[in-house]
Amino acid sequence: MTKPLIAAKYAIVGAGIHGLSTAWHLAAGLRASGRGSGADVVIVDKTGIGAGASGIACGVIRNNYFQPAMRELMAHSVGVWDSDPEAFSYHPVGYMQISHEGMHADVASIHEQQQAIGYRSTFVEGEAASAAYMRGVFDDWQARGITSVLHEHRGGYANNMASLKGLWAKAEAEGVRLVTGVVQRGFERDASGAVTAVVTDQGAIACEQVIVATGPWVQSQWAMLDLPAATGVLGADGKLHETPTWTYWALQEGTLEVDPGYLTDNDGNLPPVVHIDTDAPLHDEAGLVTEGPWGIYYKPDFNFGGVQGGYMPYRVEKPGHEVAVDPYGPDSPDFVVGADFHRTWAAALAFCHKRFEGKAHLMSTEPSGGIGSFTPDSFPVFDTFAENVYFIADSNHGYKMIGVGALVAKELLGEPQPLLEPFRYSRYARGELHPVSNSPFPWS
Ligand SMILES: Cc1cc2nc3c(=O)[nH]c(=O)nc-3n(C[C@H](O)[C@H](O)[C@H](O)COP(=O)(O)OP(=O)(O)OC[C@H]3O[C@@H](n4cnc5c(N)ncnc54)[C@H](O)[C@@H]3O)c2cc1C
Repeated sequence: MTKPLIAAKYAIVGAGIHGLSTAWHLAAGLRASGRGSGADVVIVDKTGIGAGASGIACGVIRNNYFQPAMRELMAHSVGVWDSDPEAFSYHPVGYMQISHEGMHADVASIHEQQQAIGYRSTFVEGEAASAAYMRGVFDDWQARGITSVLHEHRGGYANNMASLKGLWAKAEAEGVRLVTGVVQRGFERDASGAVTAVVTDQGAIACEQVIVATGPWVQSQWAMLDLPAATGVLGADGKLHETPTWTYWALQEGTLEVDPGYLTDNDGNLPPVVHIDTDAPLHDEAGLVTEGPWGIYYKPDFNFGGVQGGYMPYRVEKPGHEVAVDPYGPDSPDFVVGADFHRTWAAALAFCHKRFEGKAHLMSTEPSGGIGSFTPDSFPVFDTFAENVYFIADSNHGYKMIGVGALVAKELLGEPQPLLEPFRYSRYARGELHPVSNSPFPWS
């Protein structure tokens, strides 16, 4: 028996977007229902608020998903961002998905279904119409090979650490406790397998319910509960195919160090977040950069100090290298952005806007980007294991999913949530996977 540290009815491991949002909503739900208060909720983090993926996220908030269940979930989360933009440091500037012909049909169906759920967006089709629409936003727009633009009028981006602090202020006001600098190392379980305490390096936290919100570290808690390293996914052939439960992708991001005000729209306002996917070859002064297809996303960002965004991620495969132990620690891969990232990203910005031509030397070489932990189908798992351990494993979709904690809190208080139902782990054995789009990004 480990020495006791503290006790709380609900123990949340991880103070990222999901741990904080769950804590806040759980505490508010307990208070409103008269069943308890924030004092029943404790968050434990090995470092502190925003020490994981949430604290380095680019912060893009969008609805552009090919998967109906993801779109509905994101629409709910955008509602939570909209509820207090100031506290969450949220900029509701909108979002644009600008695509080549290979993605036209997928994006048309996204638009159609956004209309069906009342999510405001404009869809522009055809090469000339797309170019004209984009020049109406940026008069130096020059991207080629674009045949559709989906302009979401909701969403935008938020400043990562500022929004987490805003969330924590709400949780703290409800009386939630936060214990930092404490590493969770295991679980104590009773004869039925249910967890009775979260074991940390500084003692045990006795609890009735655990919420695992450890982002890219989720594989550790999964292993501590002896959950399977491989997951059987039912294929079209009627057979179960064993697939690694967790894989890692490196998210390549960076900043062009210009004044963020350099990227305003034609009216001098902050523009929508831009995401472009094209199959046009990409060149710079030195020659061919990539044949394509390729994609980038970007926005002016006063927090990062420039035009910030990312490129296509790549799967982390380093045989024998145990990334899972601590994806952000000394063991983490030293190769988050690939050797060609800075050149490619600067060339891609110049492909889109004349104003970025000749600016490649302004690419910041500060380490940036990070690792994401992905599930067998690259979509979230929100589910209970070992009777009382709720996993919020967002498969790296999740900074924008600020509302998931609200839904999880309701489930923990006994109200099952239809929006979370398509994300149960049992979908793999049933072969009920989310549809796959033609986007080069594993998260679209
Ligand atoms: C570079 C990058 C850019 C991204 N950009 C976007 C974006 O623009 N939009 C978007 O929607 N998503 C984005 N994402 C994805 C998003 O950041 C993540 O999906 C989300 O932040 C995960 O949140 P979380 O709360 O689950 O985990 P995290 O934010 O990673 O928090 C987990 C916490 O758990 C703590 N922890 C871990 N293990 C232990 C332990 N054993 N004991 C105690 N504490 C522990 C860590 O210290 C950490 O604070 C991006 C991700 C990366 C890496």
